[in-house]
Amino acid sequence: MDFALSEEHTLIRDSARRVAREVIAPRAAEVDRTAEYPEDYFQAFKRADLLGITLPREVGGADAGLMSLGLAIEEVAKFDCSAGLMLLLSSLPTHTIKFFGTPDQQERFIGPVARGEIKAAFCLTEPDAGSDVANLQTRAERDGDEWVITGQKQYISGGPNADQVIVFAKTDYPDPRSLAAFVLPTTTPGFEVTSIDRKMGVRGVPTGVLTFDRVRVPHDAMVGGEPIGMKGPLATLNSLRPTVGARGVGLAEGATEYALNYARERRAFGGPLTDLQAIQFKLANMAIEIEAARLLVLQGCWLVDQGRFGPADGHMLSVAKAFATEMSNRVASEAIQILGGQGYMEDHPLERHYRDARQLMIVEGTSEIQRTIIARALIDRHLVYA
Ligand SMILES: Cc1cc2nc3c(=O)[nH]c(=O)nc-3n(C[C@H](O)[C@H](O)[C@H](O)COP(=O)(O)OP(=O)(O)OC[C@H]3O[C@@H](n4cnc5c(N)ncnc54)[C@H](O)[C@@H]3O)c2cc1C
Repeated sequence: MDFALSEEHTLIRDSARRVAREVIAPRAAEVDRTAEYPEDYFQAFKRADLLGITLPREVGGADAGLMSLGLAIEEVAKFDCSAGLMLLLSSLPTHTIKFFGTPDQQERFIGPVARGEIKAAFCLTEPDAGSDVANLQTRAERDGDEWVITGQKQYISGGPNADQVIVFAKTDYPDPRSLAAFVLPTTTPGFEVTSIDRKMGVRGVPTGVLTFDRVRVPHDAMVGGEPIGMKGPLATLNSLRPTVGARGVGLAEGATEYALNYARERRAFGGPLTDLQAIQFKLANMAIEIEAARLLVLQGCWLVDQGRFGPADGHMLSVAKAFATEMSNRVASEAIQILGGQGYMEDHPLERHYRDARQLMIVEGTSEIQRTIIARALIDRHLVYA
Protein backbone atom coordinates (compact mmCIF):
# COMPACT_ATOMS: atom_id res chain seq x y z
CA MET A 1 0.00 0.00 0.00
CA ASP A 2 1.45 3.35 -1.06
CA PHE A 3 -0.04 6.55 0.33
CA ALA A 4 2.32 8.89 -1.54
CA LEU A 5 0.85 11.26 -4.14
CA SER A 6 2.30 11.21 -7.65
CA GLU A 7 4.00 14.29 -9.09
CA GLU A 8 0.91 14.95 -11.24
CA HIS A 9 -1.40 14.73 -8.20
CA THR A 10 0.78 17.18 -6.30
CA LEU A 11 0.95 19.65 -9.19
CA ILE A 12 -2.82 19.68 -9.65
CA ARG A 13 -3.45 19.96 -5.90
CA ASP A 14 -1.01 22.88 -5.66
CA SER A 15 -2.61 24.69 -8.62
CA ALA A 16 -6.03 24.31 -7.01
CA ARG A 17 -4.60 25.50 -3.69
CA ARG A 18 -3.25 28.66 -5.34
CA VAL A 19 -6.59 29.45 -7.00
CA ALA A 20 -8.37 28.73 -3.71
CA ARG A 21 -6.24 31.16 -1.73
CA GLU A 22 -5.89 33.92 -4.31
CA VAL A 23 -9.29 33.94 -6.03
CA ILE A 24 -11.84 32.01 -3.98
CA ALA A 25 -11.07 32.85 -0.35
CA PRO A 26 -11.52 36.62 -0.77
CA ARG A 27 -14.80 36.25 -2.70
CA ALA A 28 -16.63 33.32 -1.05
CA ALA A 29 -18.78 35.36 1.37
CA GLU A 30 -19.84 37.78 -1.38
CA VAL A 31 -20.71 34.95 -3.77
CA ASP A 32 -22.95 33.42 -1.09
CA ARG A 33 -24.58 36.77 -0.29
CA THR A 34 -25.32 37.74 -3.89
CA ALA A 35 -25.96 34.18 -5.16
CA GLU A 36 -24.31 35.24 -8.41
CA TYR A 37 -22.39 32.66 -10.41
CA PRO A 38 -18.69 33.45 -9.87
CA GLU A 39 -17.38 33.75 -13.42
CA ASP A 40 -14.01 34.79 -11.93
CA TYR A 41 -13.68 31.34 -10.29
CA PHE A 42 -14.47 29.69 -13.62
CA GLN A 43 -11.91 31.77 -15.50
CA ALA A 44 -9.27 31.08 -12.83
CA PHE A 45 -9.97 27.34 -13.10
CA LYS A 46 -9.65 27.62 -16.86
CA ARG A 47 -6.31 29.45 -16.64
CA ALA A 48 -5.04 26.81 -14.20
CA ASP A 49 -6.17 23.94 -16.50
CA LEU A 50 -8.47 22.54 -13.82
CA LEU A 51 -11.60 22.11 -15.93
CA GLY A 52 -10.73 18.88 -17.72
CA ILE A 53 -8.96 16.93 -14.98
CA THR A 54 -10.73 13.60 -15.59
CA LEU A 55 -11.42 14.14 -19.29
CA PRO A 56 -9.58 12.53 -22.22
CA ARG A 57 -6.32 14.12 -23.31
CA GLU A 58 -7.22 13.73 -27.02
CA VAL A 59 -10.00 16.29 -26.64
CA GLY A 60 -8.19 18.76 -24.41
CA GLY A 61 -8.53 17.21 -20.96
CA ALA A 62 -5.72 16.24 -18.58
CA ASP A 63 -6.70 12.57 -18.16
CA ALA A 64 -5.30 12.87 -14.64
CA GLY A 65 -7.86 10.67 -12.92
CA LEU A 66 -10.37 11.03 -10.12
CA MET A 67 -7.69 11.22 -7.43
CA SER A 68 -6.49 14.49 -8.97
CA LEU A 69 -10.04 15.82 -9.19
CA GLY A 70 -10.70 14.82 -5.57
CA LEU A 71 -7.56 16.60 -4.37
CA ALA A 72 -8.42 19.76 -6.34
CA ILE A 73 -11.99 19.79 -5.05
CA GLU A 74 -10.79 19.35 -1.46
CA GLU A 75 -8.55 22.42 -1.80
CA VAL A 76 -11.19 24.77 -3.18
CA ALA A 77 -14.00 23.51 -0.91
CA LYS A 78 -11.96 24.63 2.12
CA PHE A 79 -13.11 28.13 1.26
CA ASP A 80 -16.24 27.64 -0.85
CA CYS A 81 -18.24 24.45 -1.40
CA SER A 82 -19.75 26.00 -4.57
CA ALA A 83 -16.25 26.09 -6.06
CA GLY A 84 -15.92 22.35 -5.43
CA LEU A 85 -19.18 21.79 -7.28
CA MET A 86 -17.95 23.93 -10.18
CA LEU A 87 -14.96 21.60 -10.64
CA LEU A 88 -17.25 18.57 -10.41
CA LEU A 89 -19.48 20.07 -13.08
CA SER A 90 -16.88 19.54 -15.77
CA SER A 91 -16.99 15.77 -15.14
CA LEU A 92 -20.62 15.09 -14.15
CA PRO A 93 -22.17 16.17 -17.48
CA THR A 94 -19.37 14.57 -19.54
CA HIS A 95 -18.58 11.18 -17.95
CA THR A 96 -21.57 9.52 -19.67
CA ILE A 97 -20.10 10.65 -23.00
CA LYS A 98 -16.60 9.59 -21.93
CA PHE A 99 -17.85 6.08 -21.07
CA PHE A 100 -20.44 5.50 -23.81
CA GLY A 101 -19.99 8.17 -26.52
CA THR A 102 -18.42 7.73 -29.94
CA PRO A 103 -15.02 9.38 -30.62
CA ASP A 104 -16.81 12.07 -32.63
CA GLN A 105 -19.19 12.78 -29.71
CA GLN A 106 -16.24 12.98 -27.31
CA GLU A 107 -14.59 15.59 -29.50
CA ARG A 108 -17.78 17.62 -30.08
CA PHE A 109 -19.36 17.42 -26.61
CA ILE A 110 -16.49 16.88 -24.16
CA GLY A 111 -13.79 18.95 -25.89
CA PRO A 112 -15.32 22.41 -25.34
CA VAL A 113 -16.11 21.58 -21.67
CA ALA A 114 -12.60 20.23 -21.04
CA ARG A 115 -11.08 23.37 -22.55
CA GLY A 116 -13.33 25.67 -20.50
CA GLU A 117 -15.02 27.12 -23.60
CA ILE A 118 -18.53 26.22 -22.42
CA LYS A 119 -20.37 25.19 -19.24
CA ALA A 120 -22.45 22.04 -19.03
CA ALA A 121 -25.12 20.51 -16.78
CA PHE A 122 -26.35 16.99 -15.99
CA CYS A 123 -30.12 16.57 -16.24
CA LEU A 124 -31.42 13.44 -14.55
CA THR A 125 -33.75 14.40 -11.68
CA GLU A 126 -37.43 15.13 -12.38
CA PRO A 127 -40.43 16.15 -10.28
CA ASP A 128 -41.48 12.47 -10.02
CA ALA A 129 -38.07 10.82 -10.27
CA GLY A 130 -35.34 11.66 -7.78
CA SER A 131 -34.03 8.65 -5.88
CA ASP A 132 -36.40 6.56 -7.99
CA VAL A 133 -34.52 7.22 -11.21
CA ALA A 134 -36.24 4.38 -13.06
CA ASN A 135 -39.48 6.37 -12.93
CA LEU A 136 -38.22 9.04 -15.35
CA GLN A 137 -41.05 10.54 -17.37
CA THR A 138 -39.08 12.50 -19.97
CA ARG A 139 -39.66 10.95 -23.38
CA ALA A 140 -37.69 10.93 -26.64
CA GLU A 141 -39.50 9.92 -29.82
CA ARG A 142 -37.83 9.13 -33.10
CA ASP A 143 -38.89 11.25 -36.09
CA GLY A 144 -36.82 10.36 -39.15
CA ASP A 145 -33.22 11.35 -38.47
CA GLU A 146 -34.21 13.32 -35.38
CA TRP A 147 -35.36 12.73 -31.81
CA VAL A 148 -38.06 14.85 -30.16
CA ILE A 149 -37.56 15.27 -26.40
CA THR A 150 -40.36 16.30 -24.04
CA GLY A 151 -40.18 16.52 -20.26
CA GLN A 152 -39.05 18.48 -17.25
CA LYS A 153 -35.94 18.27 -15.07
CA GLN A 154 -35.50 19.86 -11.66
CA TYR A 155 -32.76 20.97 -9.26
CA ILE A 156 -30.23 20.96 -12.10
CA SER A 157 -26.90 22.35 -10.85
CA GLY A 158 -25.52 24.88 -13.26
CA GLY A 159 -28.55 24.32 -15.49
CA PRO A 160 -29.70 27.95 -15.57
CA ASN A 161 -26.33 29.12 -16.93
CA ALA A 162 -25.31 26.08 -18.96
CA ASP A 163 -24.37 26.24 -22.64
CA GLN A 164 -24.85 22.49 -23.10
CA VAL A 165 -26.86 19.84 -21.25
CA ILE A 166 -26.94 16.07 -21.16
CA VAL A 167 -30.50 14.90 -20.66
CA PHE A 168 -31.75 11.41 -19.87
CA ALA A 169 -35.01 10.34 -21.53
CA LYS A 170 -36.96 7.16 -22.18
CA THR A 171 -37.37 5.94 -25.75
CA ASP A 172 -39.68 3.28 -27.14
CA TYR A 173 -36.89 0.67 -27.11
CA PRO A 174 -37.88 -2.27 -24.92
CA ASP A 175 -37.07 -1.88 -21.20
CA PRO A 176 -34.60 -1.89 -19.49
CA ARG A 177 -32.58 -0.52 -22.43
CA SER A 178 -35.02 2.25 -23.22
CA LEU A 179 -33.14 4.96 -21.33
CA ALA A 180 -31.04 7.15 -23.59
CA ALA A 181 -28.83 10.20 -23.09
CA PHE A 182 -28.86 13.17 -25.45
CA VAL A 183 -26.51 16.14 -25.58
CA LEU A 184 -27.73 19.49 -26.82
CA PRO A 185 -26.91 23.17 -26.77
CA THR A 186 -29.21 25.21 -24.55
CA THR A 187 -29.96 27.46 -27.53
CA THR A 188 -32.00 24.60 -29.08
CA PRO A 189 -35.63 25.70 -29.67
CA GLY A 190 -37.99 24.26 -27.04
CA PHE A 191 -35.38 24.29 -24.26
CA GLU A 192 -36.26 26.67 -21.44
CA VAL A 193 -35.00 27.56 -17.97
CA THR A 194 -38.42 27.62 -16.33
CA SER A 195 -37.36 28.75 -12.86
CA ILE A 196 -34.32 29.25 -10.67
CA ASP A 197 -34.33 27.78 -7.15
CA ARG A 198 -34.03 29.86 -3.97
CA LYS A 199 -31.85 27.65 -1.85
CA MET A 200 -30.25 27.31 1.56
CA GLY A 201 -26.62 26.98 0.46
CA VAL A 202 -24.18 26.34 -2.38
CA ARG A 203 -25.56 29.57 -3.77
CA GLY A 204 -22.69 30.21 -6.16
CA VAL A 205 -23.98 27.53 -8.51
CA PRO A 206 -27.58 28.18 -9.57
CA THR A 207 -29.99 25.25 -9.77
CA GLY A 208 -33.32 25.28 -11.49
CA VAL A 209 -36.14 23.66 -13.41
CA LEU A 210 -35.44 23.00 -17.09
CA THR A 211 -38.25 22.29 -19.55
CA PHE A 212 -37.87 20.40 -22.81
CA ASP A 213 -40.87 21.16 -25.02
CA ARG A 214 -40.61 19.06 -28.18
CA VAL A 215 -36.89 19.74 -28.39
CA ARG A 216 -35.54 18.35 -31.68
CA VAL A 217 -32.03 16.93 -31.82
CA PRO A 218 -30.26 14.98 -34.57
CA HIS A 219 -29.73 11.25 -34.07
CA ASP A 220 -26.02 11.81 -33.53
CA ALA A 221 -26.86 13.72 -30.33
CA MET A 222 -27.81 10.37 -28.75
CA VAL A 223 -24.82 9.22 -26.70
CA GLY A 224 -23.41 6.04 -28.26
CA GLY A 225 -26.04 6.06 -31.03
CA GLU A 226 -28.42 3.80 -29.11
CA PRO A 227 -30.10 3.75 -25.69
CA ILE A 228 -27.55 2.96 -22.97
CA GLY A 229 -30.04 2.00 -20.26
CA MET A 230 -29.68 2.64 -16.54
CA LYS A 231 -25.98 1.92 -16.65
CA GLY A 232 -25.55 5.38 -18.23
CA PRO A 233 -26.51 7.48 -15.22
CA LEU A 234 -25.40 4.85 -12.69
CA ALA A 235 -21.84 4.54 -14.04
CA THR A 236 -21.60 8.33 -14.24
CA LEU A 237 -22.79 8.88 -10.66
CA ASN A 238 -20.68 6.01 -9.28
CA SER A 239 -17.56 7.32 -10.99
CA LEU A 240 -17.92 10.63 -9.16
CA ARG A 241 -19.32 9.72 -5.73
CA PRO A 242 -15.99 10.07 -3.92
CA THR A 243 -15.61 13.63 -5.20
CA VAL A 244 -18.88 14.64 -3.52
CA GLY A 245 -17.17 13.32 -0.39
CA ALA A 246 -14.12 15.44 -1.26
CA ARG A 247 -16.32 18.54 -1.15
CA GLY A 248 -17.26 17.50 2.39
CA VAL A 249 -13.66 16.84 3.43
CA GLY A 250 -12.48 20.21 2.14
CA LEU A 251 -15.40 22.03 3.79
CA ALA A 252 -14.67 20.32 7.13
CA GLU A 253 -10.98 21.18 6.90
CA GLY A 254 -11.76 24.83 6.21
CA ALA A 255 -14.23 24.97 9.12
CA THR A 256 -11.75 23.32 11.49
CA GLU A 257 -8.91 25.68 10.58
CA TYR A 258 -11.18 28.65 11.09
CA ALA A 259 -12.43 27.44 14.48
CA LEU A 260 -8.91 26.61 15.64
CA ASN A 261 -7.62 30.08 14.76
CA TYR A 262 -10.53 31.66 16.57
CA ALA A 263 -9.99 29.46 19.64
CA ARG A 264 -6.36 30.55 19.83
CA GLU A 265 -7.41 34.22 20.04
CA ARG A 266 -10.61 34.13 22.05
CA ARG A 267 -10.02 34.32 25.79
CA ALA A 268 -12.24 32.89 28.53
CA PHE A 269 -11.53 32.11 32.17
CA GLY A 270 -8.10 33.72 32.00
CA GLY A 271 -6.72 32.05 28.88
CA PRO A 272 -7.37 31.17 25.24
CA LEU A 273 -10.16 28.73 24.41
CA THR A 274 -7.45 26.29 23.25
CA ASP A 275 -6.50 25.84 26.94
CA LEU A 276 -9.92 24.31 27.67
CA GLN A 277 -10.00 20.55 27.38
CA ALA A 278 -13.62 20.63 26.17
CA ILE A 279 -12.50 22.70 23.18
CA GLN A 280 -9.34 20.64 22.63
CA PHE A 281 -11.41 17.45 22.48
CA LYS A 282 -13.82 18.97 19.99
CA LEU A 283 -10.89 19.91 17.77
CA ALA A 284 -9.34 16.47 18.16
CA ASN A 285 -12.63 14.76 17.27
CA MET A 286 -12.95 16.99 14.21
CA ALA A 287 -9.46 15.96 13.09
CA ILE A 288 -10.21 12.26 13.67
CA GLU A 289 -13.36 12.53 11.57
CA ILE A 290 -11.62 14.43 8.76
CA GLU A 291 -8.74 11.97 8.57
CA ALA A 292 -11.07 8.95 8.45
CA ALA A 293 -13.24 10.54 5.76
CA ARG A 294 -10.24 11.66 3.74
CA LEU A 295 -8.86 8.12 3.59
CA LEU A 296 -12.22 6.75 2.47
CA VAL A 297 -12.49 9.43 -0.21
CA LEU A 298 -8.97 8.85 -1.49
CA GLN A 299 -9.55 5.10 -1.50
CA GLY A 300 -12.76 5.69 -3.48
CA CYS A 301 -10.90 7.87 -5.99
CA TRP A 302 -8.23 5.17 -6.30
CA LEU A 303 -10.89 2.50 -6.96
CA VAL A 304 -12.43 4.62 -9.71
CA ASP A 305 -9.00 5.20 -11.24
CA GLN A 306 -8.55 1.41 -11.33
CA GLY A 307 -11.83 1.16 -13.26
CA ARG A 308 -13.47 -0.37 -10.19
CA PHE A 309 -16.76 1.49 -9.98
CA GLY A 310 -19.15 -1.30 -10.99
CA PRO A 311 -21.41 -3.43 -8.78
CA ALA A 312 -18.52 -5.33 -7.16
CA ASP A 313 -16.97 -2.19 -5.63
CA GLY A 314 -19.67 0.49 -5.88
CA HIS A 315 -20.57 0.13 -2.20
CA MET A 316 -17.14 1.48 -1.18
CA LEU A 317 -17.87 4.64 -3.16
CA SER A 318 -21.15 4.90 -1.26
CA VAL A 319 -19.34 4.39 2.07
CA ALA A 320 -16.98 7.25 1.17
CA LYS A 321 -19.78 9.54 -0.01
CA ALA A 322 -22.06 8.89 2.97
CA PHE A 323 -19.36 9.13 5.64
CA ALA A 324 -17.55 12.18 4.27
CA THR A 325 -20.69 14.20 3.59
CA GLU A 326 -22.26 13.39 6.97
CA MET A 327 -18.93 14.08 8.65
CA SER A 328 -18.86 17.55 7.09
CA ASN A 329 -22.22 18.33 8.71
CA ARG A 330 -21.00 17.23 12.15
CA VAL A 331 -17.72 19.12 11.84
CA ALA A 332 -19.34 22.32 10.54
CA SER A 333 -21.72 22.20 13.50
CA GLU A 334 -18.92 21.69 16.04
CA ALA A 335 -16.92 24.51 14.46
CA ILE A 336 -19.86 26.86 15.05
CA GLN A 337 -20.03 25.65 18.66
CA ILE A 338 -16.37 26.51 19.22
CA LEU A 339 -17.07 30.12 18.22
CA GLY A 340 -20.07 30.36 20.55
CA GLY A 341 -22.38 33.25 19.60
CA GLN A 342 -19.99 34.44 16.93
CA GLY A 343 -20.36 31.12 15.15
CA TYR A 344 -24.00 31.92 14.45
CA MET A 345 -23.19 35.25 12.84
CA GLU A 346 -22.73 35.94 9.14
CA ASP A 347 -19.49 37.76 9.97
CA HIS A 348 -17.79 34.35 9.97
CA PRO A 349 -17.85 31.68 7.24
CA LEU A 350 -19.05 28.87 9.49
CA GLU A 351 -22.80 29.36 9.15
CA ARG A 352 -22.22 29.29 5.35
CA HIS A 353 -20.21 26.07 5.61
CA TYR A 354 -23.01 24.60 7.74
CA ARG A 355 -25.67 25.51 5.13
CA ASP A 356 -23.48 24.28 2.28
CA ALA A 357 -22.70 20.96 4.00
CA ARG A 358 -26.39 20.14 4.19
CA GLN A 359 -26.59 19.91 0.40
CA LEU A 360 -24.00 17.14 0.27
CA MET A 361 -26.15 14.52 2.02
CA ILE A 362 -28.86 14.95 -0.63
CA VAL A 363 -27.15 15.30 -4.01
CA GLU A 364 -25.92 12.50 -6.28
CA GLY A 365 -27.74 9.89 -4.19
CA THR A 366 -29.01 10.71 -0.70
CA SER A 367 -27.46 9.24 2.44
CA GLU A 368 -30.38 6.80 2.57
CA ILE A 369 -29.76 5.63 -0.99
CA GLN A 370 -26.05 5.12 -0.19
CA ARG A 371 -27.14 2.93 2.74
CA THR A 372 -29.41 0.85 0.52
CA ILE A 373 -26.41 0.22 -1.76
CA ILE A 374 -24.14 -0.69 1.17
CA ALA A 375 -26.77 -2.97 2.74
CA ARG A 376 -27.33 -4.69 -0.62
CA ALA A 377 -23.57 -5.30 -0.90
CA LEU A 378 -23.57 -6.93 2.55
CA ILE A 379 -26.59 -9.09 1.75
CA ASP A 380 -25.22 -10.10 -1.67
CA ARG A 381 -21.77 -10.78 -0.16
CA HIS A 382 -19.87 -8.16 -2.18
CA LEU A 383 -18.88 -6.71 1.19
CA VAL A 384 -17.65 -9.53 3.38
CA TYR A 385 -16.11 -9.29 6.85
CA ALA A 386 -15.57 -12.96 7.65
C1 LIG B 1 -28.94 21.70 -4.55
C2 LIG B 1 -29.24 20.49 -5.38
C3 LIG B 1 -28.52 20.28 -6.56
C4 LIG B 1 -28.83 19.17 -7.38
N1 LIG B 1 -28.20 19.02 -8.57
C5 LIG B 1 -28.63 18.05 -9.44
C6 LIG B 1 -28.11 17.96 -10.78
O1 LIG B 1 -27.21 18.70 -11.15
N2 LIG B 1 -28.64 17.04 -11.62
C7 LIG B 1 -29.62 16.19 -11.24
O2 LIG B 1 -30.05 15.39 -12.06
N3 LIG B 1 -30.13 16.22 -9.98
C8 LIG B 1 -29.65 17.15 -9.08
N4 LIG B 1 -30.19 17.21 -7.81
C9 LIG B 1 -31.21 16.28 -7.42
C10 LIG B 1 -30.78 15.27 -6.36
O3 LIG B 1 -29.93 14.31 -6.91
C11 LIG B 1 -32.08 14.68 -5.76
O4 LIG B 1 -32.67 15.71 -4.99
C12 LIG B 1 -31.82 13.47 -4.92
O5 LIG B 1 -31.40 12.39 -5.71
C13 LIG B 1 -33.06 13.04 -4.12
O6 LIG B 1 -34.18 12.99 -4.94
P1 LIG B 1 -35.52 13.76 -4.46
O7 LIG B 1 -35.14 15.15 -4.11
O8 LIG B 1 -36.54 13.55 -5.50
O9 LIG B 1 -35.94 13.04 -3.13
P2 LIG B 1 -36.83 11.73 -2.99
O10 LIG B 1 -36.32 10.70 -3.93
O11 LIG B 1 -38.26 12.11 -3.08
O12 LIG B 1 -36.49 11.27 -1.52
C14 LIG B 1 -37.11 11.87 -0.37
C15 LIG B 1 -36.57 11.16 0.86
O13 LIG B 1 -36.89 9.76 0.82
C16 LIG B 1 -35.69 8.99 0.89
N5 LIG B 1 -35.83 7.82 0.01
C17 LIG B 1 -36.26 7.77 -1.27
N6 LIG B 1 -36.21 6.53 -1.74
C18 LIG B 1 -35.70 5.77 -0.76
C19 LIG B 1 -35.39 4.37 -0.63
N7 LIG B 1 -35.58 3.50 -1.64
N8 LIG B 1 -34.90 3.94 0.56
C20 LIG B 1 -34.69 4.80 1.59
N9 LIG B 1 -34.97 6.11 1.53
C21 LIG B 1 -35.45 6.59 0.38
C22 LIG B 1 -34.60 9.91 0.39
O14 LIG B 1 -33.32 9.51 0.87
C23 LIG B 1 -35.05 11.24 0.98
O15 LIG B 1 -34.67 11.31 2.32
C24 LIG B 1 -29.83 18.27 -6.97
C25 LIG B 1 -30.51 18.48 -5.75
C26 LIG B 1 -30.22 19.57 -4.97
C27 LIG B 1 -30.97 19.77 -3.68
